[in-house]
Amino acid sequence: MGTILIAGNWKSNKTILEAKQWLQEWNIQLSNNPIIQWKNVTVVLCVPFTLLYPLKKEIDRLKLPIELGAQDVSPYPDGAYTGEVSARQIKEFASWVIIGHSERRNYFGETDEILSQKVTQAKSVGLSILYCVPDDVTVVPVGVDAVAYEPVWAIGTGKSDTPQNAGQVIQSIKAKTHTPRVIYGGSVTSENVATFIAQPAVDGVLPGGASMDPVKFANLIKNLCNPK
Ligand code: PEP
Repeated sequence: MGTILIAGNWKSNKTILEAKQWLQEWNIQLSNNPIIQWKNVTVVLCVPFTLLYPLKKEIDRLKLPIELGAQDVSPYPDGAYTGEVSARQIKEFASWVIIGHSERRNYFGETDEILSQKVTQAKSVGLSILYCVPDDVTVVPVGVDAVAYEPVWAIGTGKSDTPQNAGQVIQSIKAKTHTPRVIYGGSVTSENVATFIAQPAVDGVLPGGASMDPVKFANLIKNLCNPK
């Protein structure tokens, strides 16, 4: 396993001002924290398109150990696709993209075929792909960089999967797809994060709600690096 991957998903939240305040508070919480071995942890913040540019500038200015990710990508290249944001445009500001989140599948009708087109576009410009699946039978396109196992009933409900079951499903995803990194998402908090990371197969976590608050997200990272 490489570094532990912690990918926060802000979903459709925050203005530029709120996002900058988040970064400043997160920095206060974690700067000079002797517990965190940043070389062992990869923190990715997946934010709305409108925040990619201002956050990239702020992360560079403050020299924060955060990589940026988008939450979606167009299935098409640059061109006459009104309203879409292409992989090439995202790559200017971000190094990661989430593809296949259950909210995209459920609310926007994204099929395995569309998702595979998105993977092709993201790969063509060298974006790292975090591909979400609700179970160990959903198709995972070849070549994604990480998979997130996210049972739909656990997302945003406060009811997480058991660490044991998450570990077993993730082990099965690894065996079937040969994806190097598989992480767990679904009501991960600073209180339960260490129990997921304790599972040998679990390579990281994808918190949504717990990433929205800088103090909670910082505590989550602290507890992950220093399990009680
Ligand atoms: C998510 O956004 O993918 C997610 C798992 O959200 P939450 O942590 O709030 O359940």
